[in-house]
Amino acid sequence: EVFHAYRHSEATTAVPSGLATLDARAISAWFGDHKVLDRVSLTMEAGKITALIGPSGCGKSTFLRILNRMHEMIPSASLAGEVLLDGHDIYDQGRRITDARRDVGMVFQKPNPFPAMSIYDNVVAGLKLSGQRASKGDRDVIVETSLTKAGLWKEVRDRLRQPGGGLSGGQQQRLCIARSIAIRPRVLLMDEPCSALDPTSTRVIEETMLELAHEVTIVIVTHNMQQAQRVSENCAFFLAAQGQPGGIVEHGKTEAMFGNPVDSRTADYVHGRF
Ligand code: ADP
Ligand code: MG
Repeated sequence: EVFHAYRHSEATTAVPSGLATLDARAISAWFGDHKVLDRVSLTMEAGKITALIGPSGCGKSTFLRILNRMHEMIPSASLAGEVLLDGHDIYDQGRRITDARRDVGMVFQKPNPFPAMSIYDNVVAGLKLSGQRASKGDRDVIVETSLTKAGLWKEVRDRLRQPGGGLSGGQQQRLCIARSIAIRPRVLLMDEPCSALDPTSTRVIEETMLELAHEVTIVIVTHNMQQAQRVSENCAFFLAAQGQPGGIVEHGKTEAMFGNPVDSRTADYVHGRF
């Protein structure tokens, strides 16, 4: 089985892994008795960027963590609902957490490369963690391909053996993107990936995302309304009323959500009146 997994990985190194739709159905989430999401349904279309917007505390990060089974790592956490990746529920009995993790990658707000580890080893770190084996030659190809896709190759090709922690914040975030895509996820979740970055680095990451969207379905949480409009095709507005679990008020094409929102709360939020 290991042999087959390895052959498969080798054979598909250079080609996109196939575009996948992620379909969240009636997702509810709790921390202990505290319900934080109530029956959230959202289709994140294959090969497109979906932006999740909304005030702090309305459950966006929780929703993202449910999409790659990180939520269940939190001891007090529970959930209900289904997450279908190309029609298959990632929570089905018999499906492993590690498979969900490999299929659905995550990039966090604060760039988190292994700081003392070399740039090269950072990129391939995810391969090892997800149990994929690759020869030195394969790894070299994966490192160059992933760094190129993350828009970082030209800047680091001559210093792959230097520590990841020596890079600038924006470069570190692109290194984290490279590490995520090295294992060829079908979906990439990004939780406020540019919040800790300057505007120039932010624009570089946005361009990287727009390129990546050709081969991986992307879901991004952002508080930057310009960013949502620049990168996303679809958008969902999350809101939690006082003391209530979060939910989606409105979702649809980003252009329509910003240009002609249906709900007055959406209009208030996208125009900064919250
Ligand atoms: P957002 O990302 O939209 O700011 P979160 O998903 O982080 O929202 O949080 C949603 C709700 O869940 C908040 O009330 C928050 O306090 C709570 N919450 C988030 N993480 C935990 C946790 N690990 N334990 C308990 N409550 C949590
Ligand atoms: Mg959050």
